[in-house]
Amino acid sequence: QTTANGSISTEGSISTTNWDQDTKLIPRLQLVDEDQKFTQVLPDYMNQWGLGEAGFKYNVVAVFGSQSTGKSTLLNGLFGTSFDVMDETQRSQTTKGIWISRGRGMHVLVMDVEGTDGRERGEDQDFERKSALFSMATSEVIILNLWEHQVGLYQGANMGLLKTVFEVNLQLFQHTQTSKEKTLLLIVIRDHVGSTPLENLAKTLQNDLEKIWAGLSKPEGLENCKIHDYFDFMYTGLPHKILLPEKFNEEVANLRQRFNDPQNANFVFRPEYHKRIPADGYHIYASGIWDKILTNKDLDLPTQQELLAQYRCDEIAQAAFDIFATHLQAFKQPILEKGQTLADLGAQMQTIRKEAMDSFDKNASRYHQGVYQKKRQDMLTKLNTQLNVYFVGQLKNLHKKAITLFDTTLKQELKKASYNFSEVVATSLNQATDVFLTGAKEMVLDDTDWSYTHELAILEEEFDQVSTKARADEFKKMSKALTKQVENELSEPVTIALNDPQPNTWHKIIEAYKTTVENGQATLSKKAKSFNSTEEELEESLLGLKREAWLVLRKKVDEELADTMLLLKLRSQFEEKFRYDDHGLPRVWKPEDDIDTYFKHARDDTLKLIPLFAKIDLKEDEGFEIESNEDFDFKQSLTILSEAKQIDITNRFKRESDAFYLEAKRSVVATTAK
Ligand code: GDP
Ligand code: MG
Repeated sequence: QTTANGSISTEGSISTTNWDQDTKLIPRLQLVDEDQKFTQVLPDYMNQWGLGEAGFKYNVVAVFGSQSTGKSTLLNGLFGTSFDVMDETQRSQTTKGIWISRGRGMHVLVMDVEGTDGRERGEDQDFERKSALFSMATSEVIILNLWEHQVGLYQGANMGLLKTVFEVNLQLFQHTQTSKEKTLLLIVIRDHVGSTPLENLAKTLQNDLEKIWAGLSKPEGLENCKIHDYFDFMYTGLPHKILLPEKFNEEVANLRQRFNDPQNANFVFRPEYHKRIPADGYHIYASGIWDKILTNKDLDLPTQQELLAQYRCDEIAQAAFDIFATHLQAFKQPILEKGQTLADLGAQMQTIRKEAMDSFDKNASRYHQGVYQKKRQDMLTKLNTQLNVYFVGQLKNLHKKAITLFDTTLKQELKKASYNFSEVVATSLNQATDVFLTGAKEMVLDDTDWSYTHELAILEEEFDQVSTKARADEFKKMSKALTKQVENELSEPVTIALNDPQPNTWHKIIEAYKTTVENGQATLSKKAKSFNSTEEELEESLLGLKREAWLVLRKKVDEELADTMLLLKLRSQFEEKFRYDDHGLPRVWKPEDDIDTYFKHARDDTLKLIPLFAKIDLKEDEGFEIESNEDFDFKQSLTILSEAKQIDITNRFKRESDAFYLEAKRSVVATTAK
């Protein structure tokens, strides 16, 4: 019978076999031996009896009474145990100590106390008191066994024993402030003849008990406590076993029902008598109590139960933790050593933590609730601390995985023929963030303060660095392509214009420049969409393009107007004018030709080109200007040839043209000489 909250029902003992048919001998154990040593093997016996895992589903009964009042005989009859009974013929003593066995067909531990009757023999009552303390601390029901003729003998040995029982009880429970734990005293009157009705005997006995109670010196704080605060009473009589054996057996069988049948009106194992010691802790508890009794220390049950709970909860936690730790090993290599990520790590952690907690709860929840709850929290904290290592480890691995994923997808996408840069960044970023978040969320267990926000913040920063770099790279790539485009478009028009110098040469070049910039601007605008650029960024790029194109233009102009190229241009212009006629045919100088005038004109016309080339002329492009900055000075860039350079070139050209003049003169002399 397991209740909803998982604890085992404490509803008395359950009959598991048919009592009359099961005649198998049930092993018994000497719990405390003649030398007052507590057994080591109780757990083995608990298991043999099938009670090791019984939880709270078992009960304990003990018997008290003077020597040789048929106690063991009664127990054997009631519970099918095989405790030693004094041999009638030999009158030999049974073995001293406390004996324990299990009731046949019942989840009941039965204790038989064998002592010397110290009181009758005038010996010390040491063992009697110790065994009374022990039985009281561990049993729910105490059978008090006495002869009918002992009833009313208030001064008799029996009453001394009862006094001991009561005193001992007060000692045990003096620290129980709240609900007092009750014990049932089942008083069995033996050899009950029947001439005095049971009720009368019961009344007499009850009066005697109250008197004894009144006479006890009570501990501080308990001065006014009542016998009924601690005890319930039940009376029954049994016929003479030797004279009326059949009647005796019949009554014993009836009495057994009170132990065996929860439906019985007089069922003795009521839940409130249960000592709440889980079966798996019974050994520790009972031996601990015996230890305390032997060392004569103050014994109070609440403290004992807490100590037991601490001891057992630790043991149970350790056992659960050991299994947990072996499961944990499986994560070590992949996560801590290989840097991998396990997709279902959270689920796995949840499972092994639950397994450990369930295993702990199953056994520990039966112990003292305050202790159990505290130990449970300790256990949970300990498990979480262990698991956190893997949470943190996998979070790091996820972080790395996400960054790598972002970087590689980005590179892959940007290798494609066409793409929108900002879209590519956004999708790659989403994908990588998703990998991280999905993995991280999956790992966060309940009842922990685990968080991944810090790791996520760092990750986002790194994402930012990666995309910023990618953007810069893209820009560089784009500018390079643009420069190439500008170069291609500009070089031919510049070359053509400078090879055929006209007054509007510079205007043509500026026109070509403007067209090129317009084309570049179209490309830029397209790219700007891909980059998701702002208006400002676009303007800046455009200005960059204008300067870049201008520099390309200037370089081309410099190339075209480098010394040799310039001289070549001058010479060809000069030759055109001097050596060819108006029809483009080569001149053949005749003696009557005015070579000097031709020469002068041609040379003067050619020299006029030098100032034309020397400075970019904007007279037809008024207002044309490119914004300057510290690296770019537009005004200065208009000057192509310095004054000195112009003089130098003029001189060199004059020398070169002199050669043509001499050649022309010589050709006339040669022709006339023929
Ligand atoms: P214990 O010392 O109290 O455990 O007593 P035992 O069970 O060993 O029995 C002591 C003696 O009393 C034995 O010789 C039994 O045969 C005898 N005896 C047992 N039950 C009864 C009974 O109901 N009436 C009488 N008169 N003697 C009994
Ligand atoms: Mg006995």
